[in-house]
Amino acid sequence: MHDANDEMPLHPDTMAIIAGRPPHEPDQPMSVPVHLTSTYVAGGQVEYGRYGNPSWTAFEETLGALEGGHCVSFASGMAAIAAVFDLVEPGGTIVAPRHSYTGTVAALAEREEHGRAKALFVDITDTAAVAEACADAAMVWFETPTNPALEVADITAIVRAAHAHGAIVAVDNTFATPLLQRPLEHGADIVVHSATKYISGHSDVLMGAAVTASDELAAALVQRRSLYGAIPAPLEAFLALRGLRTLPVRLERAQATAQELVRRLDGHPALEEVRYPGFGAIVSIVVRGGADPADALVGRTRLWVHATSLGGVESTFERRRRWPLEQPTIPEGLVRLSVGLEHVDDLHRDLVGALDSLG
Ligand SMILES: *Cc1c(COP(=O)(O)O)cnc(C)c1O
Repeated sequence: MHDANDEMPLHPDTMAIIAGRPPHEPDQPMSVPVHLTSTYVAGGQVEYGRYGNPSWTAFEETLGALEGGHCVSFASGMAAIAAVFDLVEPGGTIVAPRHSYTGTVAALAEREEHGRAKALFVDITDTAAVAEACADAAMVWFETPTNPALEVADITAIVRAAHAHGAIVAVDNTFATPLLQRPLEHGADIVVHSATKYISGHSDVLMGAAVTASDELAAALVQRRSLYGAIPAPLEAFLALRGLRTLPVRLERAQATAQELVRRLDGHPALEEVRYPGFGAIVSIVVRGGADPADALVGRTRLWVHATSLGGVESTFERRRRWPLEQPTIPEGLVRLSVGLEHVDDLHRDLVGALDSLG
């Protein structure tokens, strides 16, 4: 049935609910079920479980609708990142922020070590320096905000500089999510997600995705997934989509709580710095005195869970430099907070109690 309403653009909150559903016809299921099968009857489009699964497709339609491109899902964020890096011909240069996610920096360093790519690390907030680095680049890769420094990049300016030199632009949008930032609308070629984080949102799934502006790039990524098998499991795809349905309400609440916590933590004597880019639900605090008091802090809370990862309904935090791979330019006392959905007063009391106890 056609009516004029079909032409009205829908809000992301609505798209998150309606995309990737079976048609509204009698006895169609409301949700695409978990399709556990390794093979399909021959003669159709899919044929084999490494090439496709309806549970992936439902997830991909929904995230693709939110980012405004063609979504290809992967087994994890790193699997998506590896497939995107593989688009660069051997020996090509990849420009990336020096404060990228540790796994991304390590993957680039490993490629460089084996002569498969050159990595050029930049201060992503220094747009002029990034533009200069673009001259030799095959790909410009960045996160914004960066993990865990929370630096913000000028997406439009970097896209312009990169495209002037024919470089592909890929943006890791894990922290902002498509609700706060849609890099494809700013001209980026590829958006990558660790769907493990906000998209799934319940700390029970590892999954990744790449969303592309062009069919050609999507086909190249599907080819890599089909050949090398970094495929999501059907149950993971189902759970990630179930999580994605509520991303708008989860993020709205988590962001409001993060903003309120930032306001209340301002000027606390145990803190050197509170870093917050103004949006999203990740806050990085720098504890005065470095590693020891920061390690003490993460052991003294009841609600805040000392754990890596982020984007779940439960609030977690960790001192990032406990990881040997974290950049030495990240302060020893930096604790990254992933603000969850508990009540702001409870989270605040718990955190400030632990901070006050540092003396
Ligand atoms: C966690 C994370 C990744 C890696 O994703 P996995 O799902 O753990 O493989 C990549 N980028 C960012 C910004 C992340 O936070």
